[in-house]
Amino acid sequence: MPQRSSARAAVFHRVPVASVDRLTADSVLVRFDVPDELGEEFRFEPGQHVTVRTDLGGEGVRRNYSICSSATSSELAIAVKHLPGGAFSTFAMEQLAAGDTLELMTPTGAFGTQLDPLATRNYVAIVAGSGITPVLSILQTTLAVETDSRFTLVYGNRDADSTMFREDPDDLEARYADRLRIVHVRSRDQRHPAHLRGRVDRPRLEQLLGSELATAPVDDWFLCGPVEMVTDLRDLLLERSVEPDRVHVELFHGYQKPGVADGFGPGDGLGGFAWPSA
Ligand SMILES: Cc1cc2nc3c(=O)[nH]c(=O)nc-3n(C[C@H](O)[C@H](O)[C@H](O)COP(=O)(O)OP(=O)(O)OC[C@H]3O[C@@H](n4cnc5c(N)ncnc54)[C@H](O)[C@@H]3O)c2cc1C
Repeated sequence: MPQRSSARAAVFHRVPVASVDRLTADSVLVRFDVPDELGEEFRFEPGQHVTVRTDLGGEGVRRNYSICSSATSSELAIAVKHLPGGAFSTFAMEQLAAGDTLELMTPTGAFGTQLDPLATRNYVAIVAGSGITPVLSILQTTLAVETDSRFTLVYGNRDADSTMFREDPDDLEARYADRLRIVHVRSRDQRHPAHLRGRVDRPRLEQLLGSELATAPVDDWFLCGPVEMVTDLRDLLLERSVEPDRVHVELFHGYQKPGVADGFGPGDGLGGFAWPSA
């Protein structure tokens, strides 16, 4: 079972970067080489994030990144999507390399739900763009720990090339064929099935609630993406009498003005945030 950090209070440690790999033209996967003696402090539950602190040209920068690796693995990894003009994401894309050291805060956050190996639950996650990162950890961990639970992932992107972790969810779907279903929604891919072309927004969720998501009651919902998308979808679920504590939301903060609610605007469309999450 995944366990939280053993640290009594969140604390920074210097942690070496094991690798930096391109995921898409504008995102990278950063794996950390957590020293053995810090292993317990960097334990995490799926959905948690780390705070990265580094000194960029004398300006201390501190940013949060969701952990995207499974909490059942010993790996600690984050994925950073480039925001044009963004301090840390530009540094991560252009300069960060294996062997560098970053200051990492021990994992915090509570975007997730308590797992129970004996439970048989039905989960749905709806994400856009880099909103996939915490949900990738949640769905990998959930399917491994709750062997009778099912998961549906609705994943919005511009097109296949701009999809972070393009292959991982599909590989997982092949491995957990009877328990994981992935619905790709693409806004700018003319070859994508017409009924799944466009944005992940309120009308889309209304459509899915009458089709792909109509088959069984949902125990927990996970929403992560642009603030307008998350807010609209949460409102719709509450209007449909879903209990508020069954709807888990994560918002990625930023300075950007609210963009299109599909995660495909300038940068990610993430920002203009309203709710604190850390
Ligand atoms: C809990 C949590 C988890 C997160 N997880 C992830 C994740 O997994 N992956 C991910 O990619 N991001 C994630 N984020 C977002 C991340 O923390 C950063 O906000 C994001 O990477 C941008 O950081 P930056 O330093 O590159 O950009 P910043 O320097 O913060 O700039 C962001 C944008 O605002 C613009 N800008 C900067 N300063 C100003 C200004 N004064 N006025 C107007 N515009 C300005 C920049 O040009 C840029 O487009 C998460 C956030 C939270 C809160």
